[in-house]
Amino acid sequence: LYDLELQSVGKTYPDGTVAVSDFDLKVEKGEFVAFLGPSGCGKSTTLRMIAGFEEITNGEILIMGKNISHTPPERRPTSMIFQNYALFPHMTVRQNIAFGLDVKKMETAEKKRKVDRILDMFDLTEFADRTADRLSGGQRQRIALARGLVVEPEILLLDEPLGALDANLRRIIQNELKLLQRDLGITFVFVTHAQSEALGLSDRVVVMSNGVVEQISAPKELYTRP
Ligand code: ADP
Ligand code: ADP
Repeated sequence: LYDLELQSVGKTYPDGTVAVSDFDLKVEKGEFVAFLGPSGCGKSTTLRMIAGFEEITNGEILIMGKNISHTPPERRPTSMIFQNYALFPHMTVRQNIAFGLDVKKMETAEKKRKVDRILDMFDLTEFADRTADRLSGGQRQRIALARGLVVEPEILLLDEPLGALDANLRRIIQNELKLLQRDLGITFVFVTHAQSEALGLSDRVVVMSNGVVEQISAPKELYTRP
């Protein structure tokens, strides 16, 4: 049984743009998969279809064997992390992280326990009551990750999450992502246009071009044009 399965998934936007066609993919539980390709090749569209933010035009998406193609995003076992973090600048770190749980109508004590645990995990406890606009880029990225993980998703979807960070921070967060994969055993789908990032982080790379999958392989076996 695969954790995530895309069967001939396609997306045509209302204006006629064919963003993705016949996308086939099977992902094992705990695997780290990167979608790699130039801007406009359909990476974000595919990620948003998995999250449910974008309706699919063709095919089916299965998570843990269940067809979730038409399940609303809040009822899918996925979390998405955006490049610009999408934090609420005037809310505290704690409120930002708890936001993911608020939509789930969880009781207060359990919510607090989960938020405290994740604050600790990301070394954010001392900043818990600070507003998000008073934190550094690296801290904001950690809050965004913490918010995505506090709901305990089956699959974490990351849309160019390192794009806004400098080289040093990028390396630090890359290491943290690898540790999270090891410790949490959840599945990662990571979108990037940076080959080094895809090769360094993932178990398998899905190379995309013009809305189609060109190859899927382990970083070592990846064919790159000379
Ligand atoms: P990225 O390169 O990170 O995928 P873009 O800057 O291409 O992001 O797109 C940002 C937003 O604009 C997305 O929400 C996307 O859906 C939307 N968008 C991109 N291209 C078009 C387009 N041709 N028409 C309408 N919306 C678009
Ligand atoms: P990537 O993430 O690889 O940069 P996208 O998935 O954002 O690629 O975009 C794939 C294609 O779909 C591009 O041609 C883009 O312009 C187009 N596109 C994205 N969003 C929209 C939209 N909302 N409406 C129309 N076209 C879009």
